[in-house]
Amino acid sequence: MGKLIIIGAGGVGNVVAQKCAREKDVFSEILIASRTKSKCDAIAASINQPHVSTAQVDADNVQELVALFNSFKPELVINVALPYQDLTIMDACLLAGVHYLDTANYEPIDVAKFEYSWQWAYQEKFKKAGLMALLGCGFDPGVSGIYTAYALKHHFDEIQYLDIIDCNAGDHGKAFATNFNPEINIREITQKGKYWENGQWKEIDPLSVHQPIGYPNIGPRESYLLYHEELESLVKNIPSIKRARFWMTFGQAYITHLQVLQNVGMTSIVPIIYEGKEIVPLQFLKAVLPEPSELGENYTGETSIGCQIRGIKEGKDRTYYIWNNCKHQDAWQDVQAQGVSYTTGVPAMLGAKMMMTGTWMKAGVYNVEEMDPDPFMKEIGGYGLPWNEIVNGELAFDDYK
Ligand code: NDP
Repeated sequence: MGKLIIIGAGGVGNVVAQKCAREKDVFSEILIASRTKSKCDAIAASINQPHVSTAQVDADNVQELVALFNSFKPELVINVALPYQDLTIMDACLLAGVHYLDTANYEPIDVAKFEYSWQWAYQEKFKKAGLMALLGCGFDPGVSGIYTAYALKHHFDEIQYLDIIDCNAGDHGKAFATNFNPEINIREITQKGKYWENGQWKEIDPLSVHQPIGYPNIGPRESYLLYHEELESLVKNIPSIKRARFWMTFGQAYITHLQVLQNVGMTSIVPIIYEGKEIVPLQFLKAVLPEPSELGENYTGETSIGCQIRGIKEGKDRTYYIWNNCKHQDAWQDVQAQGVSYTTGVPAMLGAKMMMTGTWMKAGVYNVEEMDPDPFMKEIGGYGLPWNEIVNGELAFDDYK
C-alpha cells in the first residue's frame, strides 16, 4: 500500500485515476497532476473521494517534478502524459526516489521516431537507486507483451511467428478524430512501417501493406502493417522469434482524411511562421480535433486486440490466438471513457498494483514481458478486460504456410 501520482489528465489519465481510486487498499492516496489543472480537477470531482487530490505540473521540467514528488512523497508515478515527458519524469523519479510506470516509449518532440534505447539506457541508474521502471504497460504496448509472455510460459517451447492484431470497430460519430493523443497517433501512422524478419528490420512505405483480418465478433476488417514499439522489446527478449509484425485497422474515411491532411501539410512537425509566431502544423491540427477524452459518450462498437502466434511445443507445430474484445459502451458505463483509453488505462492500473503490492518489483528498467504474466492474467478480466484463447484452432488470418 502506498501513495501514487498520476501524471496526465487526458483520456487515459481519467481511466487510470478512476480505476486506481477504487483500489484504496493498494493506493492509499492519489495525486492527479497535469499541465492543465482544471482537467485534473474535473476527474477528481467525478471520483469525489477524499483520498484523491490534484496539482498543476509541467512534466517537461525536472525541478518542478522533483518538488512535487518531494512534497507528496509517492511510492510510484504512473506517466500517462505524452511520450515526450518520459525521460524528464524518469530523471525526477531517480532524484526523488520514486518507482515509474508508463504506457508509451520516449519520443523526441522534434523527430517523429520512437525507440526504447533512450529509456533502456537508464537501466544501471534505476538498479543502483533500488527503483523500478516498468515500460509500456498499456494494451499495446502492454497486454500484447504480457499475452506473448503468457503464451511462451504455458503454450510454447519456442515462439517463431508473432502477429499483434489491433482492431477498433467502433464509431464515435465524428468525421475525423483519433482515439488517443492526435499528435502522437498521427506521428505513429505517417511514419514508415517496419517489421522483424530473420534477424533484421524490414521497412515499408507508410500504410503500403494491408490485408483483411477476421476479428472475433466483428468479422473481416482491412488491417495495415505498422511499426509498433513492443516489437522492439519482444524480439530482444524472445530471441527465437523469426518474424514479428503489428497490424492495425483503419476505415477508408480515416485514411482519406489523413491523406488530405498530409497532402496539405497539416501533419508536418516542422515549425512554420504564422502571423509572426512559430507554430507546428501538427500541434495546431491537434488543437482543432476532438480530444480523445471527449469521444466516449456516443461511441458504439468494440475493439479487438490480440496476439496470433505460431511456434513449437514438444516438437510439434502449434498455433495460438489470444485476444480481448472491449465494447466502447461498457467502458463508458464503467468510467465514462471510450474503449481505447479504457484498454490502455486498465492495464496501467493493474501494472501499478502489481508493483505497489510487490508482485512485480525489482530494481531496474523492464518491459512487461519480463514480468511473470500469471498474476496479471489472473486479475485483468475482473477489471474489465477478459481474455479468450484458442490453441491449434481458428486464426484471425493465416499466412504461416
Ligand atoms: P491526451 O492527449 O488525452 O492526454 C495527454 C495528457 O498529458 C493531457 O492531460 C496533457 O495536458 C498532458 N500533458 C501533455 N504535456 C504535458 C506536460 N508537459 N506536463 C504535464 N502534462 C502534460 O492523450 P491520451 O490520454 O489519449 O494518451 C496518454 C498517453 O497514453 C500517451 O502517451 C499515449 O501515447 C499513450 N497511449 C498508450 C496506449 C497503449 O496501448 N500502450 C494506447 C493509447 C495511448 P493538457 O491537457 O494540458 O494538454
